[in-house]
Amino acid sequence: MPTPEQYDVVVLGSGEAGKYIAWTQAKKGKRAIVMERRYIGGSCPNIACLPSKNIIHSAKVASYFARSEEFGITKDNWQIHMTGVRDGKRKMVEGLVDMHLANFKSSGAELLLGSGRFIAPKTVEVSLPDGGSRFLHGENVIISTGSRATIEPIPGLRESGPLTHIEALELDHLPEHLLIVGGGYIGLEFAQAMRNSPKRCAGSAAKSRSSNETLAWLIEKTKMSPPCSATSFAMKASRF
Ligand SMILES: Cc1cc2nc3c(=O)[nH]c(=O)nc-3n(C[C@H](O)[C@H](O)[C@H](O)COP(=O)(O)OP(=O)(O)OC[C@H]3O[C@@H](n4cnc5c(N)ncnc54)[C@H](O)[C@@H]3O)c2cc1C
Repeated sequence: MPTPEQYDVVVLGSGEAGKYIAWTQAKKGKRAIVMERRYIGGSCPNIACLPSKNIIHSAKVASYFARSEEFGITKDNWQIHMTGVRDGKRKMVEGLVDMHLANFKSSGAELLLGSGRFIAPKTVEVSLPDGGSRFLHGENVIISTGSRATIEPIPGLRESGPLTHIEALELDHLPEHLLIVGGGYIGLEFAQAMRNSPKRCAGSAAKSRSSNETLAWLIEKTKMSPPCSATSFAMKASRF
């Protein structure tokens, strides 16, 4: 192993905690570096909190449109184009990434794109996108690698081609039916947004492991309802 580069603070993951620690420490004059393997700024601005609010907001506007007569407004043949909703969301994410890059620059914290792994105490090897590596040693090393969605072992779920929140936020069409597995706030957010669309997708949430049989039945039933585009959405956070 080459002699590692020395830092005061080395952070794995540019999500909520990681980026603020690095920015704050760098502003105090510490040598801080953050490594990020995919999402600059972490999940929240790229694939989670903010993109989901963007879609909820579009759904809210759509629900007002659907009720426009109540407000004395007439309209004909209006439609939702999910490609437009998705493009608006992508534009917002691009703006947020630029904002994060500007914050790294102004704070003096270094952002290193690559995947990190421990190879010795307080020492990380970062695999860079170009195939190279950097070796970093930190006086303090902070692990802020977040969580990932996982597909539960529910009979028929994997075969139904489920979406996680990442794909659900990239939908380019409104599904006729949406079966949401997981009744946490993320599932409820999506159910609410989709119910606000004029197609009135069925948002169904279940969270108990003991209800796996019921879920398998629902998944099968959703598959058998042509011409509906059956979409199930499985979300559960798991830590590596
Ligand atoms: C749809 C949705 C909506 C949500 N809405 C809200 C909300 O309204 N309000 C709220 O407070 N929370 C919300 N959350 C939760 C919130 O997004 C998370 O709690 C938060 O983003 C977690 O931050 P984190 O820093 O722990 O992890 P992340 O933001 O996931 O950051 C971890 C980062 O580490 C990187 N990484 C992982 N391993 C490595 C490695 N080995 N090397 C380099 N980089 C690595 C990942 O690429 C990632 O960018 C929502 C989540 C979802 C999915």
